[in-house]
Amino acid sequence: MSFLERLLGVKSTISARDVDPDALTVLHRLQSRGFTAYLVGGGVRDLLLGRTPKDFDVATDARPNQIKKLFRNAFIIGRRFRLALIRFGEKQIETATFRRDPGADDDAAAAAPPPDPDREGGLYQESDNVFGTPEEDALRRDFTVNALFWDPATGEVIDYAGGLKDLRRKVLRCIGDPDVRFREDPVRMLRAIRLGSRLGFSIHPDSLAAIRRYGSEIAAASKPRLFEEILRLFTFAKSREAFGRLHETGLMREVLPALDAYVERTGRGKSPLWAYLSALDEVAPDLDTEHRESPRYVQENALRLATLLAPLLRERLRAPGAPSARDAASELVRDVVVVPYLTGGWRVPRALCYDLERILASLADYPKRDLRRRGTFSQPWFFTALTLWGIAADAERDRAAAPALENWRSQFNAWADGPHPPRRGSYVPTDPDKAGARGFPGDVPEDRDSLFPGDRLRGRPRDEKAEDATGEPGAAEGEPRKRRRRRRGGRRHHRRGNGAGEAPVS
Ligand code: ATP
Ligand code: MG
Repeated sequence: MSFLERLLGVKSTISARDVDPDALTVLHRLQSRGFTAYLVGGGVRDLLLGRTPKDFDVATDARPNQIKKLFRNAFIIGRRFRLALIRFGEKQIETATFRRDPGADDDAAAAAPPPDPDREGGLYQESDNVFGTPEEDALRRDFTVNALFWDPATGEVIDYAGGLKDLRRKVLRCIGDPDVRFREDPVRMLRAIRLGSRLGFSIHPDSLAAIRRYGSEIAAASKPRLFEEILRLFTFAKSREAFGRLHETGLMREVLPALDAYVERTGRGKSPLWAYLSALDEVAPDLDTEHRESPRYVQENALRLATLLAPLLRERLRAPGAPSARDAASELVRDVVVVPYLTGGWRVPRALCYDLERILASLADYPKRDLRRRGTFSQPWFFTALTLWGIAADAERDRAAAPALENWRSQFNAWADGPHPPRRGSYVPTDPDKAGARGFPGDVPEDRDSLFPGDRLRGRPRDEKAEDATGEPGAAEGEPRKRRRRRRGGRRHHRRGNGAGEAPVS
């Protein structure tokens, strides 16, 4: 790195040594067969910033069927725009043919109506399926810093959109007219928030003004993509920053109105929410979110959303005539996570809602729980709940909670480190980054439709359901208690598999 590069924190060239060897294999093979092939997108941006890229994407003038012929390990995906995933073990190199934005030279695009929310993928994904030149491919991308290409043959960075300058200035700037680009794909607004927070970049004033102007059009984005992008705001331990920006830009009002109202009435910048998110960011890098068999496995998405809702739960439980913690938690999940997306076929993974409610509700009484109930430790949600308790105690600066927390932790550690039966199954979180914009964790085992918490999420209030003499809700009238137990056991059984069901809310 030259002195200037060090000063700016941005390289001007990329060394092949820093590029994933499998991505290099793909690039070299395509180029050796006479195709143009570049490393593109976030990978180039991150390498120039000296960061480790999350993934390496390739763009080429080879058509998907030509790519398929060159690589036995290539799989073509995508209905409207076909691209190849080239697999190397767990890893895959996304290899797409250069394409252009069909509306790029169309002034009428500015006046176009917002995309239809019911159509999957929004406008961007539906219409972006015309092959183009490398330059056209660069210019259809969202931000200038995301439109840089790297040519392995020359080692040069190709900059069609002025991305290098913006990289040095640490600015996220829309390619083209932001009023048009954000409206044709409103998810780009959330991408601006997320990438800006992660990279520590500002959003260019024109782009920011467009977000403020057209923020309400985010409702037009496809719901699965929105949900994914919201979960991505928590990544890289930058959730405090990302949700702060979400609030400042007015987008929180659009995507999480109940949370926005909470921030507004609790002092905006001084809202307790920020301390919760900072505490989450503190612990996030150390969490085990990979090994589902581990006793210290954390249900990442449940923890993230629970942290977001925890201060609201506290507020509701403090209010006079507060409902039980379980009811308050389930109301919150409905009000904050589910209701804003009721229109347009929004679906939140059912099992995620279930875990979220459980974990949240536990927050109300953990300091006084009975430590002898060791069966609790094997519950799939327990370690996630324990992690949340620590976050809440930290955020609330609750010193009084420390002895109880310590007690729980040491008991849990003794259990986890000793011989114990395997943990029961749990919700399988989908890493939105791995799922990509194509996959949503959508498989709903059909027989789970009648199970908690979907009934309530579908709008049937708990009170309407028969309660038996024990006061335990959720049972059909006259149904023996044993049967209910079995049914709950059945749920766990399903959750052991790919338990990413959904709570239908439409
Ligand atoms: P990350 O590091 O989180 O993966 P990324 O910029 O690589 O960030 P991806 O979602 O992997 O984001 O997308 C890869 C590239 O595809 C982006 O860098 C950008 O050039 C382009 N892209 C992605 N989403 C959009 C969009 N909605 N509109 C235009 N271009 C997009
Ligand atoms: Mg990427």
